[in-house]
Amino acid sequence: MSIIPESAPMHPDSSKAFHSLRAVDVQDYYKSCINQFYQCIYDLLNLNDTSDLEDESESNIPTYLHYEVLDPIVRSTCESYLKLLTQMKQSKQLTDDTARVKKEYKLLSDQCETFTLDTWDKYVSKELTAPKLSELFNDRSQLNNPNTQTANALPTIELEKDKLLRVLPYLWQNPANVIPDEVIRGAPINQSNTDDDLKIEGGVIELTCPITCKTYRRPMISKKCGHVFDEQGIKSYLETQGERDCPQAACSQKVKLSDFSLDKIMILRCKINKIKQLRVKEDNDKLNQELDIL
Ligand SMILES: [Zn+2]
Repeated sequence: MSIIPESAPMHPDSSKAFHSLRAVDVQDYYKSCINQFYQCIYDLLNLNDTSDLEDESESNIPTYLHYEVLDPIVRSTCESYLKLLTQMKQSKQLTDDTARVKKEYKLLSDQCETFTLDTWDKYVSKELTAPKLSELFNDRSQLNNPNTQTANALPTIELEKDKLLRVLPYLWQNPANVIPDEVIRGAPINQSNTDDDLKIEGGVIELTCPITCKTYRRPMISKKCGHVFDEQGIKSYLETQGERDCPQAACSQKVKLSDFSLDKIMILRCKINKIKQLRVKEDNDKLNQELDIL
């Protein structure tokens, strides 16, 4: 029989070591990864330059914006981004779990009878028991609990950058797709990126400005009501009066120019739309050529 107790309460002198025990917080590292993902998509789709959106012809689309080239890159980026968010969430969970379990362990340990030569035998015979940190962690940690994994949403970070990357698979499938609310709030962690699994809401988003009736060039979104107009259109609408009713039908929100900011999601929609239009045109050209040969 063993003469060493299987468990013993924490010794007061070890509290310093105990406090230093924590899961390293790597959230900042993940945030820098999100920045890199964002920059990658931003550069890849040339989101900085919207001059090609206005032009109705396809001739000035750079060759690197061809759908066939972009499709595998965009898809794998979306997939990797989802993995990153999953890992980010797990890492956060580990940090939280560690802090929580430590607190509980300390409480339980403090309630134990002091570990001395007098109580030694009682701890050996398990007449007295003390909590074990590793067992407590395995028991209490939500990290491996499938229920909490699926029930909780992915973390929301960086807002605009994260949002753009999160909606990308939906818009890549169809730039006029309405984005489900839960995707913007944080999609379930087991959400797959394959087209079949994307849950699409009904309706379509118009990719033309309701004022100018033209494709967006610099789409501006109202922070008050979320309605989007081209910069040129909303500027001329608000030219005579600084503040007016929102020009969107059935929206009576008073808006002024400072309520609007550049809508990067709409730019993304329009860019993808342009890329897809070009693809359709190329396919048609190819078909026509084939027909000519026949
Ligand atoms: Zn409005």
